[in-house]
Amino acid sequence: MTIKGKTVFITGASRGIGRELAVAYAKGGANLFITYNSTPPKDTLLAISEHGAEAQAVKLDVSDSSAVDEAVKSCVERFGTVDVLVNNAGITKDGLLIRMKESDWDDVIDANLKGAFNMMKSVSKIMIKKRVGKIVNIGSIVGSMGNPGQANYSASKAGLIGLTKSVARELASRNIQVNLVAPGYIETDMTDELNEKQKETILESIPLKKLGTTADVANSVLFLSSSASDYITGHVLHVNGGMYM
Ligand code: NDP
Repeated sequence: MTIKGKTVFITGASRGIGRELAVAYAKGGANLFITYNSTPPKDTLLAISEHGAEAQAVKLDVSDSSAVDEAVKSCVERFGTVDVLVNNAGITKDGLLIRMKESDWDDVIDANLKGAFNMMKSVSKIMIKKRVGKIVNIGSIVGSMGNPGQANYSASKAGLIGLTKSVARELASRNIQVNLVAPGYIETDMTDELNEKQKETILESIPLKKLGTTADVANSVLFLSSSASDYITGHVLHVNGGMYM
């Protein structure tokens, strides 16, 4: 699907879905520019190098717009451009509305929504000049369904859908496709935090009766960043075992 030789910028690739994505792109022969927030992604870099791909990792808080611009500049200095941007970095700070701290609301909106805005604003300047590019935002099923205890997270992911569609419309004339992959419940550190009772309840509501894997998400993201999806933009692709249709 023509990812070979392309430069892919992935936020939050130290673990989970981001790590899986980085390795999948490495297998396809892409150059990887990956970011982490707290833990240097030694394992991810090792896995990438096993596929013979070039990679650079930098520490980046995506909610900091100057730091984002610096990171994008570093990517261009190292690899010459950005062909694909995957906005994967995301956090949860769950709690019921009446108990949710204002700082928990702000932190989640800043990382998940403002972070994607900062990244797209910075990277799209490069893509607009080249008149080609692919952006894939990682949303969530709860951005469409809502979820008790996740007012901040659901709002950030619902906002990301509006942001994706607006930017898709703005950049379409420059041959840049902007789409969103909305995972359901995927086996990662994020879902490890659920207790057995919560997992059981979730499984009952999934028609395919299993949690998704990071590979399920990576396959969809790879498709939306390849030439196989050139006529798709502003789309929300649900990867959730049928939990939300
Ligand atoms: P993880 O918690 O496993 O990893 C999150 C990644 O984001 C880490 O690399 C982390 O870096 C990084 N990160 C966190 N905050 C920031 C920040 N402010 N700036 C830059 N990087 C940051 O997440 P998952 O792999 O589970 O999720 C990845 C994406 O998929 C998220 O957007 C999430 O909302 C979404 N998603 C996940 C689902 C799931 O079931 N797991 C379901 C639906 C959506 P570090 O390790 O250094 O802290």
